[in-house]
Amino acid sequence: MRGHAERLNGLGTTIFAEMSALAVATGSVNLGQGFPDTDGPDSVLEDAIAAIRAGANQYPPGRGIPALRQAIADHQQRFYGLSYDPDTEVLVTTGATEAIAAALLAFVEPGAEVIALEPYYDSYAAGIAFAGGRRVPVTLRAPSYRLDLDELRAAVTPRTKVLLINSPHNPTGTVLTDEELRGIRDVAVEHDLTVITDEVYEHLVYDDHRHLPLATYDGMPERTLSISSAGKTFSVTGWKIGWVTGTPANITAVTTAKQFLTYVSGSPFQPAVANALALGNDYYTTVRGTLQSRRDLLATGLADLGFDVHTPAGTYFITTDIRPLGHTDGIDFCRLLPQRTGVVAIPTQVFYDHKPQGAPLVRWAFCKKESLLQEALHRLKSL
Ligand SMILES: *Cc1c(COP(=O)(O)O)cnc(C)c1O
Repeated sequence: MRGHAERLNGLGTTIFAEMSALAVATGSVNLGQGFPDTDGPDSVLEDAIAAIRAGANQYPPGRGIPALRQAIADHQQRFYGLSYDPDTEVLVTTGATEAIAAALLAFVEPGAEVIALEPYYDSYAAGIAFAGGRRVPVTLRAPSYRLDLDELRAAVTPRTKVLLINSPHNPTGTVLTDEELRGIRDVAVEHDLTVITDEVYEHLVYDDHRHLPLATYDGMPERTLSISSAGKTFSVTGWKIGWVTGTPANITAVTTAKQFLTYVSGSPFQPAVANALALGNDYYTTVRGTLQSRRDLLATGLADLGFDVHTPAGTYFITTDIRPLGHTDGIDFCRLLPQRTGVVAIPTQVFYDHKPQGAPLVRWAFCKKESLLQEALHRLKSL
């Protein structure tokens, strides 16, 4: 890059692009990037094909087609008892990624501070930088990866404007508890902060863990922008249909930014996602059950290989500490792993500002067929 703007500094190429290219070049099993190797339900795929044939190929309405906004409102009511007016309190976006970027552009003044949980999803750093904000990480520390509420309180300054909260949390798999969420609420209300919540893994929670949206807490509906997307829940990550819910004024602000990013997208996918959201409880239960058994398969296998494994409560990632295998740097480890074993994983360090915190951590995706997970574990035996 030559003559580029300062806001690009430190962003580079996403680690996923680098590692997925390495996976292709070496013929490796890719447990790096978190995309499922099985597409979403047939009925949902057929609905998108039918929508193309029926002519849903031009710009949809700016805020999304009415049927999808209604389905999103119905979903929030059905799973969380949250009521939203589909005309004024719901916005369809180009994936959760655009929703996050538009929300940050809408609420972060240049110089304002955004507190984000570290390790953080990589688009957060870019979104905050594009808005001219300053990223202030609060670390979820190994080995428990719980939120330290004292650390959160200490991170707030007079310049803090936004809390960017991700639960279920990628990459640690932490699902914030009621106590942690109350603590976040107290901080947000006391300091009058806007809270952006990334809930894309809302349905991928295991054992007896439950996803609790921050918007359900007293004092939060008026200050929370709740973001989710179809990609993870319905195994259609390439469709990039996401959404934001919040008050009419907050949704109007996000829409103002969003309309000049993409304006709109995904005409034929929108009706298909509307139908997907209305699928019966059996769909949601099956997805969770399938992924939970894959989690157990990969977690047990990695532990047998000697990794120090953190079993996630949610998402489709497992974080491991590589030190028991005699390694200390996840980046070196992951760059060599494809050549040595034919498996790709992601060094969690790239999601930290406090690099030493993440140095020995490596993330593995388990949203893959059991046979592929078994093949990866078999290949890793050569370590
Ligand atoms: C995958 C992911 C996203 C992006 O969602 P899209 O709908 O594909 O844009 C956002 N946040 C987290 C934490 C993710 O893992």
